[in-house]
Amino acid sequence: MNVLVLNAGSATLKFQLIATDRAAIEREDDVKLARGLVERIGGHALITFQREGGPRVFREKTLRDHRAALAEFLSWVVSEESGVSAVRSPADIHAVGHRVVHGGQRFRESVRVDAEVIAAIEDMFELAPLHNPGNLKGVHAATELLGAGMPQVAVFDTAFHASMPETSYLYAIPYSHYRRFGLRKYGFHGSSHRYIAYRYRKLRGLPKESVNIITLHLGNGCSACAIREGRSFDTSMGFTPLEGLVMGTRAGDVDASLVAWLAEKEGLSVADVESMLNKQSGLLGISGLTSDMRELLAEEAENGDRRARLAIEIFCQRVRKYIGAYFAELGGADAIVFSGGIGENSAAIRERICRGLGALGLELDATRNSHDGGARVISTDVSRLQAWVIPTDEELLIARDTARLLASPPPAAGPSSGR
Ligand code: ADP
Repeated sequence: MNVLVLNAGSATLKFQLIATDRAAIEREDDVKLARGLVERIGGHALITFQREGGPRVFREKTLRDHRAALAEFLSWVVSEESGVSAVRSPADIHAVGHRVVHGGQRFRESVRVDAEVIAAIEDMFELAPLHNPGNLKGVHAATELLGAGMPQVAVFDTAFHASMPETSYLYAIPYSHYRRFGLRKYGFHGSSHRYIAYRYRKLRGLPKESVNIITLHLGNGCSACAIREGRSFDTSMGFTPLEGLVMGTRAGDVDASLVAWLAEKEGLSVADVESMLNKQSGLLGISGLTSDMRELLAEEAENGDRRARLAIEIFCQRVRKYIGAYFAELGGADAIVFSGGIGENSAAIRERICRGLGALGLELDATRNSHDGGARVISTDVSRLQAWVIPTDEELLIARDTARLLASPPPAAGPSSGR
């Protein structure tokens, strides 16, 4: 089954075309066919398309909306020029899987999209005003261009964290706010943490119940997840993705009182301060230079920039703090797993995070850590707490959930987005 995976933002659309089905999942031989990215939808769009293993195709074109962006991808993918031989017409696309950021309290697993699911996602606009509306634009574009009969599946960023207990997800604020508004921790990056935990369990040959680990998704956005018996027990992002670790431009944890204080002091609205915490803080805010970890590491190494170093140190210390907290919450863990752009690619950051974790029984192997490569152990053979690098693949998880759901009996027969 050729599954088109769509990740639609407010002005962006990411595509991946993946051939998968139950047998391929079992054998782990799903085939990536092509990918694409359209940025600045609504204006002069920047377009990148690529057949797997092929050259990147760049284009610029005015694209009015997500429908136009998807049409552009479809016409490229079926063309001779793309070289994607498995897809010669839109009829060769058999299903669409969507990343949807917020599933609220309702969606605990992936679901097939129908009118009622769309209405429920719309109901959650209030919870995720920056994300869910964009995600739905992807659904509507697919319906318009591929037909109302095209099976579509929604995979929620929050769903993996639906297993968190109340003790993890409730804030210590008046309980009525939770009851009235669903004001609680939801957590995000769920598809990534779920995929990493799945890969870890496969690589170690463990049953799901034996997976007790701390996963670290460190990219532009960053989050940690405490996984107990294969399920999310706690995670660092909260009601919104702002909470928790220091990120590229997000502050992560701060004292909530600073919002009112700063609004008053600077004559800002609460929304302005929230925007500052999301867009001008984190690595960018501390360094005053950039949100990009690679650039910060270069600044530190080449120019000894003090604030670049400070930003990196605060970033690493915050990750370490969460590892310690989650280790305690879980009553011990078997491994920490690094993922995301920083976690997968930066041996230096992994090493700096792990400094001081000897107390938890972690002994990093400098040689293993410095080697590039795919999923692997980077701790020594005698390390009591293991460290791993496992590249994340949210698109693959979305494609697999889509294939699994469509191969299952109708929803009335029971839940089907297993792992
Ligand atoms: P997103 O969260 O947007 O998917 P990524 O997972 O691609 O982002 O992560 C982007 C971050 O990863 C950037 O801060 C980038 O500098 C960092 N990064 C990528 N490669 C390296 C590297 N070799 N060393 C340090 N940081 C890196």
